[in-house]
Amino acid sequence: MGSPQDGLAQNLLPKNIANLSAYSSAKSEKLSGSTWLNANESPYNREYQLSGQALNRYPDPQPQQVIQAYSNYVGVKPEQVVMTRGADEGIELLVRTFCQSAKDSIAIFAPTYGMYKVTADTHNVALNTLSQELLLQGEVDQICTQVGDAKLVFICNPNNPTGALVGQDKIAAIAARLTGSALVVVDEAYIEFCPEQSAVSLLADYANIVVLRTLSKAFALAGLRTGFTLANESILAPLRKVLAPYPVSTVVADIAAQALSTANIASMRRQVDTLNALKSRLQQWLEQSDAVTRVLAGEGNFVTLQLKDKNAIAIAYQQGLVMRPFTLYGEDDWLRISIGNEQELKEVKAWLDSLTGSNNKALFRN
Ligand SMILES: *Cc1c(COP(=O)(O)O)cnc(C)c1O
Repeated sequence: MGSPQDGLAQNLLPKNIANLSAYSSAKSEKLSGSTWLNANESPYNREYQLSGQALNRYPDPQPQQVIQAYSNYVGVKPEQVVMTRGADEGIELLVRTFCQSAKDSIAIFAPTYGMYKVTADTHNVALNTLSQELLLQGEVDQICTQVGDAKLVFICNPNNPTGALVGQDKIAAIAARLTGSALVVVDEAYIEFCPEQSAVSLLADYANIVVLRTLSKAFALAGLRTGFTLANESILAPLRKVLAPYPVSTVVADIAAQALSTANIASMRRQVDTLNALKSRLQQWLEQSDAVTRVLAGEGNFVTLQLKDKNAIAIAYQQGLVMRPFTLYGEDDWLRISIGNEQELKEVKAWLDSLTGSNNKALFRN
């Protein structure tokens, strides 16, 4: 007889699950460090007070106050908003609702956010991996031909980890071409850093556009696990049937409502301005550094760059500095740096200087 761990569970697993490699999120990698610039989190932390809730009762499945506040914030109707456990649950909900296992497919434009593939793999939905280059440079006809019969087309905008943006006109044209055959899902996790680029206004004219949003990035609430799926009722009605019965805890709803007060939205916007300014400074440092061969100029609270020598990442860890390494375009010497506070970015500068032996302290004062 084998040990209880052997055999049985393996035999029971569907092939697509047995083949999964564990998703390594920024936080699941047990790294040790003191400065965390690897998960695109906000450096700002606000303390929230709970307001005496009746936790003996099940929560409102879709807390009205939060839905109302978020719909006001983005300028859509409350019926066009579904609240989820992070934008990640929105991604999963769309795949579970619209894709039939072992039959349907989704399209993505790589390199892009890892959860689209993970979700497709876990639900045994095929992945049509197209390129960012096609999305950015290709003609709409060409893009839509290559999308083929994919049911969902994920456009991460701005794109994580490249920061690239697709214009609203192009998104609209793709949606028009794919009407009746696919949903165009615009993941706007970082849109607060370039709010004028949002595709939300397209919801009025395109029944097959979905916009994903989160409180994890600019709103500085990654630990709260709150996201929103914005779309027209013909898309949201089936989603609501698939959604877990009580997805949002009373405690989460309480804090989300506070985060969406007028004062807190104004504060978020000020923080975005500061982070965008710090980002420009970091970009300059990177462009001037001999240790860096390429800097991707893009939107979002992160900068992605290619290092001259991959060993620089190990040196950063030794200095307690944790950033996110990436393999992009077949090369494993890329790094994504999240925009932290001023002190944290000074640590990045010190690391950069240590790589080249440069000691240009004057740049600290910029
Ligand atoms: C961070 C991120 C998300 C996930 O957001 P949660 O709301 O924390 O689940 C979704 N999409 C992209 C592109 C992200 O970078």
